[in-house]
Amino acid sequence: MSSKKFVGAHTSASGGVFNAVENAVKIGARAFALFTKNQRQWVAKDLDKETIDKFKKALAESGILAKHVLPHDSYLINLGHPEADKLEKSREAFVDEIQRCEQLGLVKLNFHPGSHLKQISEDECIGIIADSINMALDKTSGVKAVIENTAGQGSNLGYTFEHLAQIIEKVEDKSRVGVCIDTCHMFVAGYDIRTKEAYEKTWNEFSDVVGFEYLMGMHINDSKPPLGSKKDRHHSIGEGEIGLDAFRFIMNDERMNDIPLILETIDASIWKEEIELLYSLEN
Ligand SMILES: [Zn+2]
Ligand SMILES: [Zn+2]
Repeated sequence: MSSKKFVGAHTSASGGVFNAVENAVKIGARAFALFTKNQRQWVAKDLDKETIDKFKKALAESGILAKHVLPHDSYLINLGHPEADKLEKSREAFVDEIQRCEQLGLVKLNFHPGSHLKQISEDECIGIIADSINMALDKTSGVKAVIENTAGQGSNLGYTFEHLAQIIEKVEDKSRVGVCIDTCHMFVAGYDIRTKEAYEKTWNEFSDVVGFEYLMGMHINDSKPPLGSKKDRHHSIGEGEIGLDAFRFIMNDERMNDIPLILETIDASIWKEEIELLYSLEN
C-alpha cells in the first residue's frame, strides 16, 4: 500500500502481548495500540523472555514498524495525584510501563496526563505531572512520553491545547515528549473539526499552541455526545456527532502522515471495515 497513513486499532492483548499484533494483522491494520499489562490492575508479572521474543517476531513478520505502535498505560495511573503516597505509586507504575515498552522494542507510550481531584489547582497539578514525566524519563531511555488530550470529564487535565503545551514546556528533554490527539476528546472538549473551516481553525490553533512537531499519534473516534459536552463516549466512524467529513480531512492531511492513527471505536467487530472506510476517503 502506498498510502502514507498508518491506520489501525487498539487491539486485544489478551493471552499475551504478541496477540495484539496478530489481532492487528487480522483486521488489515498498519498500526495498533495495546495495553502491555492489565490496564485495571496495579501490578502485573514482568514480561518473560519468551513473551518478548514472540512479540518481536510477530511484529517483524507483520511489517508494522515500532513507531506505528502506540501502547497505552494503565487507567489507574495519575501522574498529577495531589497525595504523596498515591503519586509515588503512580510514578512507579509509570516507570514500569515505560520499561515494558523498552523491553518490547517500542518507542512511544501514550498516557492521560492526570487529575487534580479538586484538591489542588490546575497549575499545581500540571507542575506535578511534568515532574512525574521528568523523573520517569530520567530512569529510562528510548521511549517517548506521549500525552493524550482528554475530554475534560471530572477533574482530568489535558482538555485544552494549552494544558498540553504547559506540560511540554516543563519537560526537560523535549526530544522524548509528544502528544496524541483523540478526535472524540478534542470535539467534546470544544474543538470543532466538522467543516473544512472549523477543521483548519482548530488545527491552526494546535499548531500555534502545541506544534505539529509534537504530534506522535491520534485516536480516531467519532463522538456520541455533542461538541463541548465534556463527556467521553466514543462512537463508530461516521455514526456520531463528528461525522465522516472530519475523517476525510484527516486522511487527506499530510500533517497526519507516518503516525499511528488508532481506532478506539465502540464496535470492534467492524474495525476491519472502518479501516477500509478510512483508506477509501483518501483522494
Ligand atoms: Zn483515546
Ligand atoms: Zn475516550
